Amino acid sequence: MDKILVIDFGGQYNQLIARRIRELGVYAEIKPYDKITVAQIKSEGYIGVVFTGGPNSVYDEKSPHYDPEILSQGVPILGICYGHQLITFMAGGKVVSAGASGEYGKIPVYVEKDILFDGVPEKSVCWMSHNDYVGEVPSGFTVTARTDKCPVAAFKDEKRKIYGVQFHPEVTHTEYGKTVLKNFVFGVCGAKADWKIGNFVEESIEKYRAKLSGKKVLLALSGGVDSSVAAALLSRAIGKDLVCVFVDHGLLRKNEGDFVEETFRGKFDMNLIRVNAEDRFLSKLKGVTEPEKKRKIIGEEFIRVFEEEAKKIGKVDYLVQGTIYPDIVESGRGDASTIKSHHNVGGLPDVIDFREIIEPLRYLFKDEVRAAGEKLGLPRELVWRQPFPGPGLAVRIIGEVTKEKLDTLRDADAIFREELEKAKVNSNQYFAVFTDTKSVGVMGDARTYGVTIALRAVTTDDFMTADWTRIPFDVLEKASGRITGEVKGVNRVVYDITSKPPATVEWE
Ligand code: GLN
Repeated sequence: MDKILVIDFGGQYNQLIARRIRELGVYAEIKPYDKITVAQIKSEGYIGVVFTGGPNSVYDEKSPHYDPEILSQGVPILGICYGHQLITFMAGGKVVSAGASGEYGKIPVYVEKDILFDGVPEKSVCWMSHNDYVGEVPSGFTVTARTDKCPVAAFKDEKRKIYGVQFHPEVTHTEYGKTVLKNFVFGVCGAKADWKIGNFVEESIEKYRAKLSGKKVLLALSGGVDSSVAAALLSRAIGKDLVCVFVDHGLLRKNEGDFVEETFRGKFDMNLIRVNAEDRFLSKLKGVTEPEKKRKIIGEEFIRVFEEEAKKIGKVDYLVQGTIYPDIVESGRGDASTIKSHHNVGGLPDVIDFREIIEPLRYLFKDEVRAAGEKLGLPRELVWRQPFPGPGLAVRIIGEVTKEKLDTLRDADAIFREELEKAKVNSNQYFAVFTDTKSVGVMGDARTYGVTIALRAVTTDDFMTADWTRIPFDVLEKASGRITGEVKGVNRVVYDITSKPPATVEWE
């Protein structure tokens, strides 16, 4: 399989670069600049290298640099922003401070005819974010793009197959960004589009079948997307040799625990143990009102329950974790095969006796994990579900968590979701919140003193920022009417109209 290496110099969009390349059907990996040598790049057979952007200036004392040997290896290079400036520095050109000529945001760019700009019009919009620029082009290089303020918006040394762009092709604001990446990957590097999730799934099944058949393999199933896909994959590989412990903490949405159980019992061959631990979690959460404390208690209790079940099973050979690629990149591991304790539910059980950790999804981005889940036959509803916090509904109940509040919230939440889905409202995440505020109402001519439920729905690309969804009033009316009418104890419904920032999507 052809592989492109993304060398990370601390850019904000490093993952985006790799994702875009993979969307083109070519496998891309990210490594921090100090975790991979030129010799490794050669021996591991990368067919092209991308230098990412980064916050530094190339002449800063602490700025990250790279071995200039890379320039003469015949491996194609694309430098982006800081990467473009770093190539300049390494090849003997000059980088200067742009001063007032820094460019931030959408900027018109003028390109020359070039392999990198095949299919890009002479003038288009690109996205820039830089304080420095290339003032003097290194020898052997020619300028291939300009903006009104930036004299070297792109350059190339065709002989050595080295390219640099000052703008960011990986962000969607660059109109022809994807074309530029495509031209680099296919035109310059000559890659084949052979990264297909279906192949990954098939190869993984074969690999784990060979490695793990006849062994005892243990997995903690939370019902989240990652652990569910890992479970599906290993079940296809080794069937009943896989033991999944599904810890139902009682903080899931309405019918969700049963749905997870039915899915895995119905469609997958595995040893599934469901632990209904609602009472345990609720007694640990008794009297706790502080959000961070709730999160911590739930994370720890999850591990304890899992450990107890594992001890009943006895010695296992392998422990499976649903770690995915962003977990690895963000924890700075870079080397995806290093085994280190990372767990999406907060810590690794230490009393379980096992030989090795298996992380079958450690090379996949979230979208790819979902696509793999679909290939494996998991229902769309599970695979494409909205982000759901690990501590579940406990952080959607303000104040102390009780069984009664959970049941009220579950019912209100289910009605709200049903109404939005029926009306086909376009929203990326939506749910109900138990506000822990009581107010006076009147129902059937009698005074009530009941619970206030808040509804939350957001529209967002990436969850870093979010806007509240403009739900049509008649849909809100229907949801509100049904919640006060059908859910006992609720006499008021409010809609949250704050964006993120200043608020967050979740209330706790
Ligand atoms: N720090 C460099 C500059 O300001 C590069 C910025 C970037 O990579 N986005 O020009």
